[in-house]
Amino acid sequence: MTKQSYDFAIIGGGMAGLTMALLLAPMLARQNKTLVLIEAFNPKAGEYQPSFDARSTALSEGTRLILEDIGVWSSIASNVCPIRNIHVSQKGGFGSTRINASDADVDALGYVVENAWFGHQLMLAVNGVENISWLAPAKVEHVESVDSGQQLTLNDGSNIFTSFLMVADGAQSSVREMLGIQANKDSYEQHALVCNVETRLPHGNVAYERFTPTGPLALLPLTERRSALIWSVPDDQIDARMTMSDREFMQLLEVEFGTRLGPLVKVGERASYPLSLMLVRDQVRPGVVLLGNSAHALHPVAGQGFNLIIRDLLCLAQSIEQCLDDDGSLLSLEWLSEYHHKRQLDQWLTTSFSHWLIELFSNDAQWLTRLRELGLVALDCVSPVKSSFARQAMGMGLGAVK
Ligand SMILES: Cc1cc2nc3c(=O)[nH]c(=O)nc-3n(C[C@H](O)[C@H](O)[C@H](O)COP(=O)(O)OP(=O)(O)OC[C@H]3O[C@@H](n4cnc5c(N)ncnc54)[C@H](O)[C@@H]3O)c2cc1C
Repeated sequence: MTKQSYDFAIIGGGMAGLTMALLLAPMLARQNKTLVLIEAFNPKAGEYQPSFDARSTALSEGTRLILEDIGVWSSIASNVCPIRNIHVSQKGGFGSTRINASDADVDALGYVVENAWFGHQLMLAVNGVENISWLAPAKVEHVESVDSGQQLTLNDGSNIFTSFLMVADGAQSSVREMLGIQANKDSYEQHALVCNVETRLPHGNVAYERFTPTGPLALLPLTERRSALIWSVPDDQIDARMTMSDREFMQLLEVEFGTRLGPLVKVGERASYPLSLMLVRDQVRPGVVLLGNSAHALHPVAGQGFNLIIRDLLCLAQSIEQCLDDDGSLLSLEWLSEYHHKRQLDQWLTTSFSHWLIELFSNDAQWLTRLRELGLVALDCVSPVKSSFARQAMGMGLGAVK
């Protein structure tokens, strides 16, 4: 078999891999470098792709700005729903808070996009870049460090050589394992149950975050009366919730969420994802970097996973460009460690913020319920706290890439 060579390779054509390819596109053209994207699933329209399934993603204002910079926002924007208010409440407690876009002096606090549409637009954009090649469906089965780069072996037995490898093959990353990189996962003992729901009343561009004793649930606005539900369910209850009838499911959801949006009218197909917390300590090796969910995975409670990832990607793209401009070697561990060092605070703060929310709201001690009520009321009344909370939620808080 012949061996093909590329300057850069990305394993995984999910949200992280595709976005990274687009961030590197101008540099590839300028420096006449090549990049290959290797994806296990066939990205042809209509075929199942795990990264771009029936879920929806809340993109922060910070993410929107990055997507605008790489030229894809205008096409994505035709099919997104702006979030103008976030309503936070807890079941069984009186306190609630409402964060408005005006608290942060922006038009929208974030934008909800259906993953299938997002993925389609990213793929169209990547297909339009000359120096990017696609290898799909193709699965990387072996990685070996060789002189001045990495050799990848694919499932058809062919070999690829690359000077610089970006690993974006998801939370269950097999490539991370092939590289011998340790990842400690802490299970939340919860699954995220995801589906779209239709309500009698329009959502009015409000995203709801409701904490219940068994786990948080979020309703993200889509089209006028459609919202995306992300419901954190204890592991021992997930099978029952996945298999109960639509009618029973809607009744239970109304009990947990209440009827702020009137009665539920319809519920779409349900899917579930196991939830765990993971922040890999060793994210870089000479000429190799872990990206996306292969580097960290967090609870979706605050909708921060991809918003954190894209800030890593932007920082890495800037670091690669700097390294090449300085005539540095892509294999040098020094500049990659510097990249990782720059990203550590934001990664730690964002994963801790989501984790802390879960810890704080999953304890049903009476005194803590009261404390949370006070906290929500205080958040509602103290504008500087509210606006810094809003900035964090928009991915523009402490630690974000400037
Ligand atoms: C329920 C839920 C709700 C969420 N909501 C939000 C939200 O509102 N906002 C937000 O910012 N984030 C959210 N997230 C997080 C976000 O979805 C993830 O961070 C994001 O999908 C991670 O993308 P990724 O590309 O790193 O990984 P993945 O999406 O897992 O993609 C990995 C890709 O690699 C491919 N692959 C795997 N192994 C190989 C191999 N050996 N060779 C070749 N290809 C391979 C796979 O086929 C896949 O396409 C949510 C997550 C969940 C579970």
